[in-house]
Amino acid sequence: MKQSVRTRFAPSPTGFLHVGGIRTALFAWLVARQAGGQFILRLEDTDKNREVEGSAEHLIKSLHALGLDYDEGPDKPGPYGPYRQSERLDMYKKWAQKLIEQDRAYADPYTPEEVQRFREQAQKEKKPFLYRNHRPENPLKWDGRQPLRFKSDPKAYQWHDEVMGDLSTGPEVIDDFILIKSDGFPTYNFAHIVDDAEMKITHIIRGQEFLASMPNYLNLYEALELEPPIFATMPHILNEQGNKKLSKRDGVKDILDYVAQGYLPEALRSFIATLGWNDGTTQEVFTTDELIQKFSLDRVGKSGAHFDERRLSWVNGHFIRELPLDILYGKVAGYWPDEATGYDDAYKQQVLGLVQERLKFFAELPELTIFFFKDLPIDLELISGHKQLKKVESEDLKTLLETAEASLAESDFSTTDLTNRLNGLLTITHTKPAVLFSLIRIATTQASASPGLAETMHVLGKEVSMHRIQSQLAALD
Ligand code: GLU
Repeated sequence: MKQSVRTRFAPSPTGFLHVGGIRTALFAWLVARQAGGQFILRLEDTDKNREVEGSAEHLIKSLHALGLDYDEGPDKPGPYGPYRQSERLDMYKKWAQKLIEQDRAYADPYTPEEVQRFREQAQKEKKPFLYRNHRPENPLKWDGRQPLRFKSDPKAYQWHDEVMGDLSTGPEVIDDFILIKSDGFPTYNFAHIVDDAEMKITHIIRGQEFLASMPNYLNLYEALELEPPIFATMPHILNEQGNKKLSKRDGVKDILDYVAQGYLPEALRSFIATLGWNDGTTQEVFTTDELIQKFSLDRVGKSGAHFDERRLSWVNGHFIRELPLDILYGKVAGYWPDEATGYDDAYKQQVLGLVQERLKFFAELPELTIFFFKDLPIDLELISGHKQLKKVESEDLKTLLETAEASLAESDFSTTDLTNRLNGLLTITHTKPAVLFSLIRIATTQASASPGLAETMHVLGKEVSMHRIQSQLAALD
């Protein structure tokens, strides 16, 4: 019987879930969903010193927010639980016992000072420091108070990584490493191998930082008589310039902050999937169904992907434009400026329809729409700082706006009539749209950009528009 695909996301609850972590989760989720298999969440909480309170909940919330549903996890019982490593200590002891019985693990007798001496000695002799050169001759019986160290069997390895290709290393990189620490908790190196085997994981998808340890892991799989699963190593995510690993200093936000700012889960999934993956075409935006269909580990690039927040905004804008207006209206409910309180749904929906084209994330909504809800103070700098308008005499601007006022006063303020009149005004006044329309736009919105002028004035309505034009006229005196 063909083994069903089981992938896992195995974060340590040590704080912030960075975009690299989420990408690993997304890829593991896609591999599982594509194969009709299972996606498992396992919390690797064995390093008590690094644990950050609340981060397990934060991780779970982030996965939910991105729609990366898991089939088994700490809060979703399954056949191979518990799914928190700190609750599986007996299991690691059992596997450790097996290694001890086969003389493949020993109690580490050394103090940190002794190890430091070994290190210095190796340095003096210009030899690499290896624990396996210092195996105790008559090891103590392990009683759990010393670290338990793996007795490696140095040899060369060749293996395949779905992303990195065929890899090989020599015996010199193999060394004895700690399996269980003196605090009774297993190391990641040991625990993940036991857990992946016990949980019947078929694919290990994880970050590049573990690649150097692969030969040691392969050595341990052998000692434990376990068949290694499929490996896929994700390259680092680089900053925008592509010259170093992405870090918090690059201004990258926590994934939940992006969600809170009004980035759509669907857009985040598409953007994150294309950090290092493409389908072999120039397609840049993918629906989640397309991702599930098209994703493949062997099309993940070996070198680092660049994180570019502007591209994320662009992708999000794309998904926002694709949404039917009434659905979008439901989603932006919490993002309107305070001044919009009291305006009815029909009006706000019209406003939203006008800015949908330009909206990149929901938190931009107040900035883009405020003038639909409030008369902004007249800002003469919008004219004095305008490329075209600053060249026109103030008196001429006034005449121009008065001519516009006279024509618009006759309008029924339907979009068609406003469009006709605005175009007619261009002919009558012999001006360019960059002058005339900019002037009317500034007068009616007090903003340097707005949706189409006729559409904007139509939604503002005659009373508000005419009143604002008159205020501008008064200010031009
Ligand atoms: N606990 C490891 C980490 O958070 C997981 C690595 C893995 O996926 O195996 O980095």
